Amino acid sequence: MIFRVFDKDQLQRLYDVLAVNHIVGPVCKGVNQNSAPLYDFDFVKTFSELKLDYSSTIHSLKRFVLPPRETLCTFELGDDNWRKRLDFNVHEPIVFFGLHACDINGLNKLDKVLNSVVYPDPYYVAKRKNMFIIGVNCSPQPFCFCRSMGSDSALHGFDMFFTSLGDEYFVEILSATAFEYISAIKSREPNERDHARFKEASEEKINNFTCHVDTTDLTKILDLEFQAEVWKTWGERCLSCGTCASVCPTCYCYGIHENVNLDLQGAEKIKQLYSCNLIDFAQVAGGHNFRPESHVRLKYRYYHKHRGFVEAFEESLCVGCGRCGESCLAGITVPEVIASVRGLER
Ligand code: SF4
Ligand code: SF4
Repeated sequence: MIFRVFDKDQLQRLYDVLAVNHIVGPVCKGVNQNSAPLYDFDFVKTFSELKLDYSSTIHSLKRFVLPPRETLCTFELGDDNWRKRLDFNVHEPIVFFGLHACDINGLNKLDKVLNSVVYPDPYYVAKRKNMFIIGVNCSPQPFCFCRSMGSDSALHGFDMFFTSLGDEYFVEILSATAFEYISAIKSREPNERDHARFKEASEEKINNFTCHVDTTDLTKILDLEFQAEVWKTWGERCLSCGTCASVCPTCYCYGIHENVNLDLQGAEKIKQLYSCNLIDFAQVAGGHNFRPESHVRLKYRYYHKHRGFVEAFEESLCVGCGRCGESCLAGITVPEVIASVRGLER
């Protein structure tokens, strides 16, 4: 890894160099009832729109790699034969400017499933290859527990990563392309004082976490508490709305359906993201529903994140971004659910 330091007044120059590509980053979308800004990832048209000091975004950047609804292919009937048209829906390279470590780790986790050696998803892989990623350090929010999930720091999955040191950025460079871009602005080698400031910034971030999840022996505890009454309590609160999965950077469940045109001359195959909390998630042909009760669906979402994925990949599928809890109308949060399953009051 190569390290550099540059003045923050160079940032616009870097943006301008990168802006020959599409840029997606955190932008302000309005304010909440307390007049606090609401941020989300979107295409950035001007440098002033880019808010690198954002707190957190409502949604992850999942929609850019796993669109909520995507046409996988279309079919046309011609000359008594079907013609199939396949499109991975990738157009031009996108620079993702300003991802926090949790979201970079979210993509790294999705890669384990969707960019695996055995069954890669070509639509996802094509979009992932088209990304240039710039990370930026963050200030932990009251609902962030990424440190508990080991996702508060990104070790790979980015091209460059900025850590704010007052008027300067300390930048970690992981790719040759990133090095070329940094060479286009004024930067310098870090010195011993910069190393110390970088370590201070890391320490300060760690000390600012107020939300924690105890993951000690969690897979075993989940096995032990599979039939615990506490799941029913959470299930009674759950509205089965699926919002948690929609904002989550790592939920990737989907359904596929085919539409045939009324004139029978064409058809399309559509992929639609889904949530395991929705009432018909486990309904099969014939109408039988394997998970008709909301507490069972909610429980399986937790078992997938904190039990099954850990068994398969030795890490949780949750990055601890806290978005699901912030968006849940029933106020269901991961730290509270896990604490209750452990038998702890919060
Ligand atoms: S946990 Fe909350 S966000 Fe998720 S489905 Fe239930 S009510 Fe909706
Ligand atoms: S389960 Fe919730 S806290 Fe965990 S990654 Fe998904 S949205 Fe973030």
